[in-house]
Amino acid sequence: MSDTVIVWFRRDLRLDDNPALEAALRSGARILPVYIHAPDEETPWAPGAASRWWLHHSLEALDAALRACGARLWIGQGESLALLRRLAETSGARAIHWNRLYDPATRERDTAIKQQLRAAGLDCTSHKGALLFEPWEAATGSGGPYKVFSAFWRHCTPRLAELPDPIAAPVRIPGVELDGGDTIADLDLLPRIRWDQGLAEAWTPGEHGARTTAERFLAGHLDGYGELRDHPDRPATSRLSPHLHFGEIGPHRLLALTRAALRAALPLGEHAFVRELGWREFAYHLLYHFPQTPEHPLDTRFADYPWREPSDSELLERWQQGRTGIPLVDAGMRELWHTGWMHNRVRMVAASFLTKNLRLPWQLGARWFWDTLVDADLASNTLGWQWTAGCGADAAPYFRVFNPVRQGERFDPNGDYVRRWCPELARLPDKVLQQPWTATSTTLARAGVGLGVNYPPPIVDLAQSRREALAGWEGIKSSP
Ligand code: FAD
Repeated sequence: MSDTVIVWFRRDLRLDDNPALEAALRSGARILPVYIHAPDEETPWAPGAASRWWLHHSLEALDAALRACGARLWIGQGESLALLRRLAETSGARAIHWNRLYDPATRERDTAIKQQLRAAGLDCTSHKGALLFEPWEAATGSGGPYKVFSAFWRHCTPRLAELPDPIAAPVRIPGVELDGGDTIADLDLLPRIRWDQGLAEAWTPGEHGARTTAERFLAGHLDGYGELRDHPDRPATSRLSPHLHFGEIGPHRLLALTRAALRAALPLGEHAFVRELGWREFAYHLLYHFPQTPEHPLDTRFADYPWREPSDSELLERWQQGRTGIPLVDAGMRELWHTGWMHNRVRMVAASFLTKNLRLPWQLGARWFWDTLVDADLASNTLGWQWTAGCGADAAPYFRVFNPVRQGERFDPNGDYVRRWCPELARLPDKVLQQPWTATSTTLARAGVGLGVNYPPPIVDLAQSRREALAGWEGIKSSP
């Protein structure tokens, strides 16, 4: 009988371009593909409700793909180390392969697991499957981490050409089947109260969905991406973020597909879409080097910022529910609730409104996004919130406060986005759509809008709250 090797799937739920799987196959052994559900080991950032929904469907897709190749996914729940040990004993496996993850709790766990399994005589190898560049591969002239995106990406861009080609998906996997596992349903990932219909309409989790989404985007939207990517009223971005987060498409495959689709003469790293993939790399670079940042501001002066009392939960709830009275913010928050995703421009506007106009701590917003986004990703979410709040690396200067009315007029000029998600405002003329409180009572009545009846008046005064936010900044900016 030939040897057995375990492939431990985590957030690399794909067969294509999967270095851990490829290494296991190359060894000539039979493969035991394993997924272990251990949310306690990811505390305090165990997957939120929308991510669990995605995970359920993505695991189903992975299992189906494995079966089509001759293997089956063994699923368990509990302590990862104990389960891997038991599986190695039962199957007689001599080696384990996995692709690396970078969030602090998982890194710590994986390091401990590697040490213990090696001590028990198992050959454990981790691989680079989630990123183009390892977070430690890029260093400034003085050997430290980058804190500014442009410098980071200038370092990475020439190295894009040196990256290895993506690995083709195997056609056959000589699988090992073991009894005693759980089913995907046993993991209890789906919501008990079925609020997930909007998610099911919007997404196709799994490797096939990821590849189709990528190919459709690259064929139809790559050319206009740089110009239109800021427009939430247009389907101009790839919507690949949840697929990338769960590793349903590898970054090397995506880069290779992009390179093939590009007709422009620009160096690859300068194309707007590839730069966004660079922001993802930068987010991981920061999380790796500053593992405290999911909870604490990188700019420590912000520890003393005079946030509004978080106990003022009504403001937070109104923001979460999309009932702030600011149409672009409300449209975004409702898109998030309904589909598990929000356009990047609107994420910035909604986050700025929470942290600057409502002056609520960014950590509260990051938590809500964590629970409701299908692409909730510790690196990118932390970067996005700290960037917008002005307390992160490469942050927008604190005094740059997004004006949600101007943002709406500029990036949703015909109001299609606001009208879609705030249908009670749909009949307002464009001129007042982004600020209904400025409309005359006749205009409101004609459009069927009653402020305080079917749509709220603004929960804060935009100009005054901006001044208060800036005054708070004045108070901390010269702290050491
Ligand atoms: P595209 O425009 O098609 O970009 C392609 C890919 O590049 C994305 O899928 C994503 O992987 C990456 N990317 C694009 N923009 C960024 C960025 N600013 N930072 C990091 N990576 C980026 N992204 C997440 O994946 N998960 C999150 O939890 C998350 N939280 C955010 C919170 C806030 C407050 C903000 C302002 C941004 C956040 N982002 C997050 C970044 C960005 O909004 C999303 O990656 C993007 O909207 C996903 O849509 P897309 O796939 O169509 O992007």
